[in-house]
Amino acid sequence: MNQYNFPTIILSGQGALAEFVNRLKAKKHQRVLIVTDETLKACGVLEKLTSLLDEQQVAFSVFAETRPNPTEADVEKGTAVFKQSQCDSIIALGGGSPMDAARAIKIMTVHASPLAQYDDAKGGDRLITEPMPPLYAIPTTAGTGSEVGRSAVIISAATGKKTIYFHPDLLPEMAVLDPELTIGLPPHITAATGIDAFVHCLEAYFSPGFHPMADGIALQGLELVLDWLPTAVKDGQNLDARERMLIAASMGATAFQKGLGMIHSLAHPLSSRCNMHHGLANALLLAAGVAFIERADLDEDQKFRIKRVQSLFAAAGYETGPLADRCRQFVEDMGISPGLSGHGVLEKDLKSLAEEALEDPCHPTNMIPVGLADLLSVYKAAL
Ligand SMILES: [Zn+2]
Repeated sequence: MNQYNFPTIILSGQGALAEFVNRLKAKKHQRVLIVTDETLKACGVLEKLTSLLDEQQVAFSVFAETRPNPTEADVEKGTAVFKQSQCDSIIALGGGSPMDAARAIKIMTVHASPLAQYDDAKGGDRLITEPMPPLYAIPTTAGTGSEVGRSAVIISAATGKKTIYFHPDLLPEMAVLDPELTIGLPPHITAATGIDAFVHCLEAYFSPGFHPMADGIALQGLELVLDWLPTAVKDGQNLDARERMLIAASMGATAFQKGLGMIHSLAHPLSSRCNMHHGLANALLLAAGVAFIERADLDEDQKFRIKRVQSLFAAAGYETGPLADRCRQFVEDMGISPGLSGHGVLEKDLKSLAEEALEDPCHPTNMIPVGLADLLSVYKAAL
């Protein structure tokens, strides 16, 4: 017996934001809290949403103090705004960080402090019992796919470490994929976030769990990235490419409920210790991680999965060579120069980075098992 989960209502395409506001009005919420960050406020994306809400006379408050890695203090502040302004619903607007903060705020609006007691690693999800206000998610990047996620990553006040909060009811009621919100992203961010979506699909498809729906979604997501990321990078104003990349990102995050792999475990310490963009870290590790898998003694199903992805690359014009070489070429074609060393990573730090990667929860679902020496070898190959 197997259990499957499938996500939320997704509105996608030009006009999705306006349609979302129509639907929100029909829900007759008293007041909605928008959780976002200062960058989105400054670049005018927040105003695109608030002007539509004003037009439709939907009452809202704004909490724009989410930090790039949201903290417990951010969550407390946002929760206070929710309560003081008597909100009854939440919109998360932004990349992964406002989405994380909004989900944690959703918990804290109806549950007792402190947030730390709901830590998923300590079984805290069992304490999330009260009906929570509805959450709507509007991504402004195409990479994390956090709008179809059910967990929040928040820096703990006590330990300073990233803590995960998970509950099925944290899934947004609606995700709004409007390409007009991502046209302002510069090419290097478009490339890095797009490769993140690609690696979500690839690692999910390669992970050994039984989840045929996730496999299908992952393959389609890979095809979308191969077909549309080049255009989104070269021509940021192309709304078709922007829309396809938003969809691919949602598909990646949907697929990776099956599991991720060693590339993500290796990428995480590069962000927490070296402050590297998560998508860029994945891009720099992709070819070395795939080469490690291709060198292993694989069974027939594993070989079939590699061939399947090679055929998608072939259809996109990357016709020959091992999968790792095609991945390397694709990343370079997206304008990302290879080599961790060129991005500030020092060889002397690789061992401690590998030790941290070993503690990461993603690699146990890698296509083949990995140990400390394997993780270190992939860092070295990617240096
Ligand atoms: Zn990722």
